[in-house]
Amino acid sequence: MTDKKHASFMRSLCMGAIEEEILLPYPEPKSAEKETLAAIFQSLKSMLGSRERDFRAWDRAGEMPKAFVEELKEAGLFSLVIPEAQGGLGLGATAYSRVIQELGRYDASVAVTVGAHSSIGMRGLLLFGTEDQRARFLPKLASGETIAAFCLTEPGAGSDAAGIKTTAVRDGDEWVLNGEKLWITNGGIADFFTVFAKTSLDGRGHITAFIVTRDMKGVSTGPHEDKMGIRASSTTTVVLEDVRVPAANVLGEVGKGFKVAMKILNAGRTGLGGGSVGGMKRLIELSVRQARERVQFGQPIASYASVQQKIGQMVIDCYASESVVNLVAGLVDRGFEEYAVEAAISKVLSTEALWRTADEALQIAAGQGYMREMPYELALRDSRINRIFEGTNEILRLFIALTAMNDVAEELKDLSASMRGVFADPIKGFGVLSDYAKRRAQLATGLRREKGRFTLLHPSLAEEAVLFEEAATALARAADRILRHHGKHIIGEQLVTRRLADIMVDLLALAAVLARVSTKIEDHGEASADVERQILRAFARQAKRRVDQNLAGIDENEDATVKQLAKHVLETGRYVWDNV
Ligand SMILES: Cc1cc2nc3c(=O)[nH]c(=O)nc-3n(C[C@H](O)[C@H](O)[C@H](O)COP(=O)(O)OP(=O)(O)OC[C@H]3O[C@@H](n4cnc5c(N)ncnc54)[C@H](O)[C@@H]3O)c2cc1C
Repeated sequence: MTDKKHASFMRSLCMGAIEEEILLPYPEPKSAEKETLAAIFQSLKSMLGSRERDFRAWDRAGEMPKAFVEELKEAGLFSLVIPEAQGGLGLGATAYSRVIQELGRYDASVAVTVGAHSSIGMRGLLLFGTEDQRARFLPKLASGETIAAFCLTEPGAGSDAAGIKTTAVRDGDEWVLNGEKLWITNGGIADFFTVFAKTSLDGRGHITAFIVTRDMKGVSTGPHEDKMGIRASSTTTVVLEDVRVPAANVLGEVGKGFKVAMKILNAGRTGLGGGSVGGMKRLIELSVRQARERVQFGQPIASYASVQQKIGQMVIDCYASESVVNLVAGLVDRGFEEYAVEAAISKVLSTEALWRTADEALQIAAGQGYMREMPYELALRDSRINRIFEGTNEILRLFIALTAMNDVAEELKDLSASMRGVFADPIKGFGVLSDYAKRRAQLATGLRREKGRFTLLHPSLAEEAVLFEEAATALARAADRILRHHGKHIIGEQLVTRRLADIMVDLLALAAVLARVSTKIEDHGEASADVERQILRAFARQAKRRVDQNLAGIDENEDATVKQLAKHVLETGRYVWDNV
């Protein structure tokens, strides 16, 4: 591996290289961290373990009582990621994600309230804050005296975050902010807002991040939104009317706020992934109880293969998601800087797995599951938001595939630059050209041996390792071919990039599961990982089938017809084939 901190497993994979040192050994929490976590889990259990009725009541009321928010503060839940020097617990990404996971097992609204504060609300302060800003704000954020919110979305700018209209105009030592932020988690309970505004009105606009506090004149928040799920968490508008913000409250550099926002969202994704995994673990437990207790046709429904299939699949989905979420958190803790693609994959994978799990858990409970007195419909409603916020999964798929394509394009650009160089400097030019030709030939034959094979995995996993290597070769070959075919127009080929992204999601999950099982075997022997080996085998085969289908779909598909149908309906405005 060339430069550890700047290497990305998935971006390298799309170029045909398996950077296995990034995966192995699979990260494990340190023993000191395990002790801290055990203590936190114990206190969560005593605080939240018997509150299920309350959580249901707050869901109906659409609000969390102030007294309960005070309890969360007293339990130190707003201090998780703040350094110890500033009064926080100083948890790393792995431990933090694990705490959000545990909270997700009790209640999604609680997990979102704590997560929005730590993952995104004040993450900008941790990543970009000056000494002065950190000293001014972190102690109160740690004690919970101040709760944080992240304010990017506006009525006209959701996925297109660069299109925000909130303005910041410099006036002496201050900036004057005007605008409206929409659907801000913790809006109603926060006093610290990370606000993004345009600091240049030249048409292109440069975004800057600001620390805004509730006590500033002109800051107001709207009523709680009446939502489908996570109803007890606070979601409001945040309105800024001639708010005078000291220049000392600019986060990061003026004009570099888009980068600040993206870095915050990347860093926060392990929290959301953790929450999703926690939700899945709870749903598995609920489903097991339901399947054992419900008797139909004289037998517990757990004895029927259709029910077993659902529960087994939940386990596979949960294990794969957990493996990726922990892997990404481990990368953050080990100081890797290039984990944005992997973090986006962890969000897509875990949030969709949670949604399927919630849906199947409700199906196992069937009629009972549909009733509000049971926990399933709440779990289904709560889990739906995860595919929408912190970047919709569609936008993240575009990001995943296009980032990889960009790397391949860079290599092609190097190639064309060097081909021009062939005439100026034939020897150098020929060297680059022949390297590229060699890579192409290796991809074509699947023989990129020096980096295209695992060497560190436990030998007993050879079958799944080969399956991964073959799929990885096919991915690199497909990325290269797609780019040659579409060139820069690849940006508009969303159905092609979607398939590539789906292949990448499956391959990172398979790599993470392989690494996790291999490390378990190395550390504890083959017998210790018997069941996990079966999960790996099942996931690998399922992933292979999906990868094959996506690869085949790149060339053979009904995309043109489907798009044409959409165009037809978009033009007519309705379904026109009603036969009555
Ligand atoms: C409960 C809740 C809490 C939230 N909390 C916060 C918060 O704390 N802070 C904050 O800043 N925001 C927050 N949000 C906003 C959230 O991040 C946005 O809803 C999200 O980014 C999507 O934006 P949008 O809803 O405007 O959808 P749109 O951007 O309008 O997208 C609509 C649909 O079009 C698709 N789409 C859009 N553009 C493209 C494209 N180029 N190609 C393909 N498909 C596309 C999307 O995937 C989606 O399916 C929250 C939202 C909710 C509902």
